Amino acid sequence: MKIFTRSSLLTSWLNQQSKEASIGFVPTMGALHRGHLSLINASRKENDITVCSIFVNPTQFNDPADLDKYPRTPTEDLALLRAAGCEVVLLPAVEDIYSDPAIKERSYDLQGLDQPWEGAHRPGHFQGVCMVVHRLLEIVPAHSLYLGQKDWQQMLILRKMISQLPEITTKVVPCPIVREEDGLAMSSRNALLTPQERHQSIAIYQTLQWISAHIHDKPWDVLLAEARERLHVAAPLISAIEYLALVNGDTLAPASEKQPPACLLAITAVQFPSARLIDNIIIKD
Ligand code: AMP
Repeated sequence: MKIFTRSSLLTSWLNQQSKEASIGFVPTMGALHRGHLSLINASRKENDITVCSIFVNPTQFNDPADLDKYPRTPTEDLALLRAAGCEVVLLPAVEDIYSDPAIKERSYDLQGLDQPWEGAHRPGHFQGVCMVVHRLLEIVPAHSLYLGQKDWQQMLILRKMISQLPEITTKVVPCPIVREEDGLAMSSRNALLTPQERHQSIAIYQTLQWISAHIHDKPWDVLLAEARERLHVAAPLISAIEYLALVNGDTLAPASEKQPPACLLAITAVQFPSARLIDNIIIKD
């Protein structure tokens, strides 16, 4: 496994490889788990070279305390990537990624996709995500970009961003959510939960499954109100349910039962004292 800390050296190395070799790219913020590894596996099946980046991107954190406490486990990450057969890892410093001040001046018109849900609760987050992934795709001229459906809104936004950048021809490959045995969506932030919070966190996916199972049983506003109540009761340590909604999976607009969208998702974000978690379930696709 080749490890690069300087992005220019990675770009030169990739340019020296055969022009026929397909490149799959998996950007991450490290503290790797099976969810990340499923992306690596998907890329390895479809490409000659898989590149994984590990970079905790400061520009996508609207809360400095969140950036400070974000888990960092580089030694374990490299061992996991080696075992997974990942060919190339990029572990850059912040100064390397943002060496050119013009990169931080870039702004992206995401045609409203960045406004609701995560965008409303994390101002500036998606501009930071676009900034870093745009820069990473300049470093890694990938054929395919592997993104988890756990971050559904991020996946739609990055697809939109790429569609607006004529010089970038990378295809987005969505990958299903990998869960713990008890249903909790894997996340680097799960490591921050106290044992009690971790125990109650199973209620998040259970609530999404309950919504999916009862989607035809009652009006959706009633269904969502009951689901909120269930979640509060099952997980009293949750200090805020930031959103729990039924949305059109293509546009993120709130979904209504009068005109159900072709792709229907239930999405949620909850705040525990120790960590903020997000999850979603595809009800109809
Ligand atoms: P992160 O390190 O959290 O920025 O995530 C890096 C990539 O892994 C993103 O495309 C995420 O959507 C994806 N990912 C994170 N958790 C999971 C999961 N449980 N299942 C599948 N993909 C995931």
